[in-house]
Amino acid sequence: MTISGTVQGVGFRPFVYNLAVRLGITGHVANTSEGVLVEVQGKPAVLSLFLEMILTGHPLLAHPKIMTNNPVKVILEENDFVIQHSQTGSDKKALITPDATVCEECLQELNDPTDRRYRYPFINCTHCGPRFTIISDVPYDRPNTTMRPFQMCDKCQGEYDNPADRRFHAQPNACSVCGPHLWLTDTNGKQIETTDPVKMAIDWLEQGNIVAIKGLGGFHLAVRADSDQAVGALRERKYRKAKSFAVMVRDIDAAMKLARVDPVARELLLSVGRPVVLCPGVDNEVLSDLVAPTSRYVGIMLPYTPLHVLLMAGNYPALVMTSGNNSDEPIECSNEGALEKLGAIADGYLMHNRDIYTSCDDSVVKTFQQAPQMIRRARGFVPAALGIDRKSQGDILAVGAELKNTVTFVKGPQAFVSQHIGDLGNATTYESFLRTVEKLGALTGARPRIIACDMHPSMLSTRFAQSYEGVRLIKVQHHHAHIAAVMGEYNLPGPVVGIVADGVGYGTDQTVWGCEAMAVWPERFERKGYLQQIPMPGGDAASRQPWRMAVSYLVDAYGLEKGVALGCELLKHIDPKQIEAVGMMIGRGVNSPLTSSLGRLFDGVSALLGVCMENSYEAQGAIELENRVDLDETLAYPIEIAEREKCKVILLPPVIDALVKDINAGIPAGKIAGRFHNFIIGALEQMALSIADELSTDCVALSGGVFQNDLILSRMTQALKNKGLLPYFSRKLPVNDGGISYGQAVVADAIAAKTAI
Ligand code: ZN
Ligand code: ZN
Ligand code: FE
Repeated sequence: MTISGTVQGVGFRPFVYNLAVRLGITGHVANTSEGVLVEVQGKPAVLSLFLEMILTGHPLLAHPKIMTNNPVKVILEENDFVIQHSQTGSDKKALITPDATVCEECLQELNDPTDRRYRYPFINCTHCGPRFTIISDVPYDRPNTTMRPFQMCDKCQGEYDNPADRRFHAQPNACSVCGPHLWLTDTNGKQIETTDPVKMAIDWLEQGNIVAIKGLGGFHLAVRADSDQAVGALRERKYRKAKSFAVMVRDIDAAMKLARVDPVARELLLSVGRPVVLCPGVDNEVLSDLVAPTSRYVGIMLPYTPLHVLLMAGNYPALVMTSGNNSDEPIECSNEGALEKLGAIADGYLMHNRDIYTSCDDSVVKTFQQAPQMIRRARGFVPAALGIDRKSQGDILAVGAELKNTVTFVKGPQAFVSQHIGDLGNATTYESFLRTVEKLGALTGARPRIIACDMHPSMLSTRFAQSYEGVRLIKVQHHHAHIAAVMGEYNLPGPVVGIVADGVGYGTDQTVWGCEAMAVWPERFERKGYLQQIPMPGGDAASRQPWRMAVSYLVDAYGLEKGVALGCELLKHIDPKQIEAVGMMIGRGVNSPLTSSLGRLFDGVSALLGVCMENSYEAQGAIELENRVDLDETLAYPIEIAEREKCKVILLPPVIDALVKDINAGIPAGKIAGRFHNFIIGALEQMALSIADELSTDCVALSGGVFQNDLILSRMTQALKNKGLLPYFSRKLPVNDGGISYGQAVVADAIAAKTAI
């Protein structure tokens, strides 16, 4: 029998071994590059029981798939069952599991003073511990992991060799005698003398220091979450003004003191992947207001390594645990890198000598309509494969978008979406992109014959794709990829109605698209409608400074002179000279590319209402605007749609005019925000209805960063359902650009199948 799927590093061979011994059958089991090979002999009834037990009684982390099951010749002299050494083949099909949180049995040992691993921070077994972040190649055997330098002591080796043991072939198996260890350093990397680094790190944290702590996928910057002074210092040193920090708490009870934890969120918090779970915050005496100053949510996670469990014993109710990086750079995962990059932030370091081969941020998930929805997919989820309904032959590499970049390798019917990489504009993030392509490529054994990228000519990922030799290059429009990602996840054949509510994406007309209504097939799309385009004065600067967009909407609605005058009146915190300068840019068309971005419209409205003038993090204006919405407001700003070159265009001047009148009439911001949200939903719904009619379909795929706005997504899906349509949106991948690489792969596969060369 060859068994594929997730069968390596999850205690699968010991499970098979124990099962065989229990049933009294003989034969062998071995890891191969394709998965696991099992050969057994026994009475037919026992063998079929064996087969059934493999499929139903397997270990928690395993997902076995029986690929072949053929009779072989009986070996008469065979009288036992053995685990054989790993074989390496040419075709890698075995799946590596994501990193898993420490299991209950290991926790018991960790807390048992009589156990030889009492308080050992690297305790693990075949059911738990590091996987993806420490492995460099398949099969998953110790020499292919960063545990390679550690020679097991006799006791550990005994466990490793004993088929009845929980640590039988547990590749990262270790103890304090033979395994990795912790130490503390100051900011210069000078080791600090102590017999108990954990205890001392706890002391540091209790005193309000910022400690860089090496975890599973990289360094965290940790600080006690109940101290304004401590959290404030972290914000200042990390140059992070307002974006929320995630916190780690001891257990689920502690989480429930900070936020409303619904049953789905509870399950996510306790899941083996242990993501950060966004939960609606509640009034509490615990967290400093500086933890999440602009969000209704608190990002919470539970300890997921033995080290975290030990650290959470400190006298603090929660720790801020944020990625150890400088803003926009990838998370640091090496001791040297952390010392070099985090020295100006951390007061000290808690390090260890188990190397992290692949860095991985914490994943972020939330509950939406009683089911999990991914926001950032990384540790604990990657490299689990997503399905893809293949139409073409050969492997595919899709290199993703510029922001929130991920890459995807497709091999057979499986898509391997990488961990969140980040924004490629940053040079070190681009290096991380290159490393990820290399490492995930090696791990999956994919040999791409097709490479998919964005249409934007100057994107680094596009240039990378163009430089890749000996493959077919397929360029995919950003918003086509957004919708294709939804189609891939739900296996929708198309055509579907695609409604994209997004920040920016390069359009086929070389302008910046962002709010599109499209008819979408996997291999092509037709743009059917969009939000009226307006200038983005200063280009990217307009994304950081929502007030620039506010001026642009005013100028569009009222003309240059009156628009600028109104801007000076409404945007009270902005220097009128700056507003005039921006007006001039728009008037002369200098550095003011056109955009139909919905993200920018949210920004502009947010600035007009005085809610947010500057985005210190992406979409801050939109998030703060959503938070203001008066949920009882039922009025909506006027929806006017014009016909331009066979496209329906949602016009903005009527909206801006009504909104300005409301501001001047003293209507509360909450009501105005409500009317604006209702307008967006109404306009998108109208677009969706007319395209659905034209295509004779009831499938509507929703995608784009704006749909991270719960209010928009929930009201939009409700509105569509009320009209008898079926709304779909990504859940396993983010609705934002994190899903683009998967969508590109879906499109490239379809195009390749239609036009083989
Ligand atoms: Zn364990
Ligand atoms: Zn040992
Ligand atoms: Fe996008």
